[in-house]
Amino acid sequence: MAKSEIVRAIKGMNDIVPFAPENFLDSKIWQKIVHAAEETFEAYGYRFVRLPVVEDTQLFIRGVGSETDIVSKEMYSFEDRGGRRLTLRPEGTAGAVRAYVEHSYFHHQPVQRWWYLGPMFRAERPQKGRYRQFYQIGVEFFGVDSVASDVEILCTLNRFFQALKLDTLTLRINSLGDEKSRQNYEATLCVFFDKIKKDFPDDLHDRMKNNPLRFLDSKVFRQSGHADSAPDMIDSLSEDARTRFDGVLSGLNRVGIPFKRDPTLVRGLDYYSHTVFEFSTQDLGAQDAIGGGGRYDQLVSELGGPATPAIGFAAGIERLALLLAAQEEQDKAFELCILPMEGYAQEAIILAESIRDVGDIKIEVDLTGLRLKAMFKRADKIGARLAMVVGEDEIAHKRSTIRDLSQRDAEQEVALDARLIHDVARDMLDGRMGSDES
Ligand code: AMP
Repeated sequence: MAKSEIVRAIKGMNDIVPFAPENFLDSKIWQKIVHAAEETFEAYGYRFVRLPVVEDTQLFIRGVGSETDIVSKEMYSFEDRGGRRLTLRPEGTAGAVRAYVEHSYFHHQPVQRWWYLGPMFRAERPQKGRYRQFYQIGVEFFGVDSVASDVEILCTLNRFFQALKLDTLTLRINSLGDEKSRQNYEATLCVFFDKIKKDFPDDLHDRMKNNPLRFLDSKVFRQSGHADSAPDMIDSLSEDARTRFDGVLSGLNRVGIPFKRDPTLVRGLDYYSHTVFEFSTQDLGAQDAIGGGGRYDQLVSELGGPATPAIGFAAGIERLALLLAAQEEQDKAFELCILPMEGYAQEAIILAESIRDVGDIKIEVDLTGLRLKAMFKRADKIGARLAMVVGEDEIAHKRSTIRDLSQRDAEQEVALDARLIHDVARDMLDGRMGSDES
């Protein structure tokens, strides 16, 4: 690479930056999502965990399953200098379970509610809503196997989406039942696939036979016209599994969370059992899955711990951000820009400090040193709603004027007093224009 050539980010890996040209990668939208997650999950007793991005490759082979697309085709794996096989995590649950087992939570506090967020890596073909480094927000709830834990996690997620005002998502839900139900279902599916296999290319026949659940979940099958006539998992559930699933559905009805039962929803990973679910949208085209999860009651023991029930969920932040960016105008980054005339930057900073002491208005003091007209232009460009000048005249008369940049001629004179400036600015931001404050 020539020295003068710029170095670019890796394909499928995005920068999350202020004023991003692609609105959904704007850090402001991301902070909003993270904030809503933190507020909601903490309100349900979830605690934050931050886990390594790199794990032993074996963790995913054992945890997610060597036959899954994620593990067989999409992992970023490498050998480190010590010859260890390592992988950039493609999902969060396996690492969370590893940590749960490694720190022996099952001994002292088996019931744990954890939430996390961070980058995941999958070598998929990038397109809108699908990236090679993407971010997930997820929750894992260990140690409880009751129907109530399924219903509670769905309440938590529903509230998270409500906090983001995403009210057009569809919740689809299914049950994979226990081991016995799954075997029943696989046998039934094999009979069904055998009848229709002539409609699919020969190279898929092995997969239809050896991994019928995965084939049921594939795009080829979903789009084949046979999807509607596939046998319903519910008819293969053991009695216990059926009673459990009915309990979850009636729990959802009781808490008023709408859902659609989707007999073809199996999710791509090996570790799920009983309840599986997905939230999807009609607003994002092909990448319509916003988040999904389910029970994984065997995973803790498969990764070396004692049998411990668990349920979890993960949502992609990029897709949430795409939805939010498409919603109406976002909150402005700064509510008030203070524009100091030459030589008055210190005064402006001191004034801004005392306004911040009084309340929660987001203020940027313009320290560019530009001329006044250029500062006004910039304030508008960076998304400030209000602007106020501080200079010789303002200090001498102890007064200034707050201008609303979104409405021509909308302005209010105000004394240079932190409390008054705060109150007038807040009124203007909330659309309440008083006559005269002082
Ligand atoms: P999964 O673990 O595959 O169920 O993914 C959970 C959520 O992560 C999905 O519903 C998406 O929102 C998001 N997600 C998965 N893969 C990608 C990707 N390659 N790019 C962006 N988001 C993704």
